[in-house]
Amino acid sequence: GSRWHLAGMTALVTGGTRGIGYAVVEELAHLGAVVHTCSRNEMELNQRLQEWSAKGFIVTGSVCDASSPTQRQQLIEKVSSIFTGKLNILINNVGTNIKKPTMEYTAEEYSMIMSTNLESSYHMCQLAHPLLKASGLASIVFISSVAGLVHMSSGSIYGATKGAMNQLAKNLACEWAKDNIRVNSVAPWYINTSLVEHVLSDKQFLDKVASRTPLKRPGEANEVSSMVAFLCLPAASYITGQTIAVDGGFSVNGFP
Ligand code: NDP
Repeated sequence: GSRWHLAGMTALVTGGTRGIGYAVVEELAHLGAVVHTCSRNEMELNQRLQEWSAKGFIVTGSVCDASSPTQRQQLIEKVSSIFTGKLNILINNVGTNIKKPTMEYTAEEYSMIMSTNLESSYHMCQLAHPLLKASGLASIVFISSVAGLVHMSSGSIYGATKGAMNQLAKNLACEWAKDNIRVNSVAPWYINTSLVEHVLSDKQFLDKVASRTPLKRPGEANEVSSMVAFLCLPAASYITGQTIAVDGGFSVNGFP
């Protein structure tokens, strides 16, 4: 049945050339969706598009810095023209971090993290709303973090952006339910990607992560993309406004 397929659906995944975004592009395409993605690096983007084409996936891409308002506008114009004014799925995946004690952050760093993680997601929702509504059956997923649920050593600005994304999912879920748009947030704990390669390659830190995680390891990108894809399926038609941790049990582990 079509409950477990995305055939005939269109999707926009921001930041799809590496890590979680890459896995989400593949998962959605595998389930039958036609996907558009973006990143800042044209060479890497073109390489990914070739790989996906060779695998039989229908994926197109744009070079776009998601932290730029004008480039976001151009991205959605491109998506609108490719998908004829309709979009079923928006995945707000782009995110970045600078890890520091709070007293060391500059105003510029604050702006950069806020605009890349929160403002870009917020604006993408505004830009995509007419297309999502026009599709008649739509779903937005924010890639948040457990850092938006509990304190982590990842820095207070990052945590604030992710907490705000979780709340945004709740607000938009209620506001846009009438437009048949479901909105959810997925909150991963450490996942093996290029974003955290430098921290997880530190054996001592990796051991610390494992010791706090009931499943005793960091996650893989395809363990996040499966949840993201599920939330976009017709099978998830009654799930909206939720924040779902994909964290090996980290966020429920009060006392090991
Ligand atoms: P990666 O850095 O591995 O991949 C990020 C992807 O997004 C790349 O394709 C990158 O391409 C693209 N990207 C980054 N910045 C921009 C930008 N400004 N505009 C357009 N594209 C951009 O990150 P992850 O896959 O690890 O992270 C994805 C999301 O998951 C983030 O929101 C992150 O906060 C969240 N997350 C990750 C966790 C982890 O442990 N890995 C844990 C919890 C949450 P390019 O750089 O070429 O533009």
